[in-house]
Amino acid sequence: MHGHPGWAAKGRIMEDQRGRGVSRRCALRQGAAIGLGATVAWLATPALAQAKLAKDAVKYVDKGDVPGKDCDDCIQFIAPARPKDAASCRIVDGPISPHGHCIAFTPKPKA
Ligand code: SF4
Repeated sequence: MHGHPGWAAKGRIMEDQRGRGVSRRCALRQGAAIGLGATVAWLATPALAQAKLAKDAVKYVDKGDVPGKDCDDCIQFIAPARPKDAASCRIVDGPISPHGHCIAFTPKPKA
């Protein structure tokens, strides 16, 4: 004597639904990962290969008023090759002051 055939069928349907739920969650997570990957790739692209942001767009100021958050504390800051040259930024266009600041400020990782 076998069990009621309806029970087995019900079990299969429930399993199917669980399976779909998991794969949908996976797809969402994958989408987020792709988005993050694209952002990282953009940040890692050499500065010359991409258009930089205008100073206005990131509210750049030559003299920042937040202690410890000057351009020379920022991961995007590029110190000049020679002291008499202007510094620059990986993502913001134009000469950059070491004491400047903008809304894209990203602290350098602590050594
Ligand atoms: S991202 Fe902004 S704060 Fe950082 S160096 Fe460039 S201009 Fe300065």
